[in-house]
Amino acid sequence: MNLILLGPPGCGKGTQAVNLVKKYDYYQLSTGDMLREAVANETQTGKIVKDVLASGKLVDDELIIKIMEEKLIATKSKPGRIFDGFPRTLIQANELEGLLKRYQMKLDLVIELVVDQHSLLERILKRAKESEEKRDDDNSVIVKKRLEVYNKETKPIVDFYSSKYNLNKIDGMQSIQEVSNTIENLIENKH
Ligand code: ADP
Repeated sequence: MNLILLGPPGCGKGTQAVNLVKKYDYYQLSTGDMLREAVANETQTGKIVKDVLASGKLVDDELIIKIMEEKLIATKSKPGRIFDGFPRTLIQANELEGLLKRYQMKLDLVIELVVDQHSLLERILKRAKESEEKRDDDNSVIVKKRLEVYNKETKPIVDFYSSKYNLNKIDGMQSIQEVSNTIENLIENKH
């Protein structure tokens, strides 16, 4: 099972991915988490991306695709993968098609979590306050930038997936449990 969770920062992708990891032993491929880990460990990649992450802009497609290819190879034996925060540009979406083909994988589900634009800023700032993990990009100026970048660079891939796949839109304003149930039903129907 390979599934993509699409949606803006704060829509609940990460929360839902964690639920699916617990329930189905899928692997969560969160590029944001991978990049933050690289920064924390001060790896070469971490040094390259630190300032980009703090600015709310996107990391180079080429670097992200290289990281993703390594992770696809490393997780080949997992029963499933959840793409969370990737792809984020049309270039990445096209590259993912090629990668999946190269490793004899296919995309089974594409899910978009739809949330009111004005709730997102509020949600992210609330999460930042409650979270123990401090992020350099969780202040209101940078969160607004992240939302702007999403609308400009990532939203177009919703159309890309609508035209190529059956795009499942889920109302992300529902409770976490309701969203989880809807996603699990979609997965069960694929089996
Ligand atoms: P959120 O969805 O909450 O904004 P993420 O944790 O997914 O946060 O991503 C945090 C940051 O990591 C992004 O603002 C961007 O700089 C970088 N990033 C994550 N995924 C990608 C990607 N696929 N392409 C380019 N940059 C990315």
